[in-house]
Amino acid sequence: MDEEFTLTMPLDNDGYATFECPCCLDSFQMRGEEYNADDLFEFWCPSCGLKSDSYVPRSVIELAKAKVLNRFMGKMETELRQISSSTRGSILSIEVKTNFGKEHENLLFPDVAAFEEVICRICERPYRVHPLTLFTGPYCPFCGESV
Ligand SMILES: [Zn+2]
Ligand SMILES: [Zn+2]
Repeated sequence: MDEEFTLTMPLDNDGYATFECPCCLDSFQMRGEEYNADDLFEFWCPSCGLKSDSYVPRSVIELAKAKVLNRFMGKMETELRQISSSTRGSILSIEVKTNFGKEHENLLFPDVAAFEEVICRICERPYRVHPLTLFTGPYCPFCGESV
């Protein structure tokens, strides 16, 4: 497959994307524009305060896998059918029957009401965490400062 596939993080109505920490598996939200900002390279998990390489939630990775698989299987089917129709009527004809289950491409958005907005008092950037994380004192994902 020579197709390019880009993984896009879905944004909610306020422009927030949901991330998931691979260390503590807690989720939090940052604005898409800030996540893609050129001067920001690394982020801290607001819950455990650790830095990780990727905060792409497992649900988004699963969705990407499903999309790739569906596209690949769809192509295979089309090509097999082309072979089949090109052999029709010849001495050797091939009939194609495919029966692959399409993977679901639905992404469940987390309940936005489950997050509370925090503005970092150091870098003044907004982010959202679970109320429990807010209660225990979150780390700013942008500067690592504990509120
Ligand atoms: Zn964490
Ligand atoms: Zn900050």
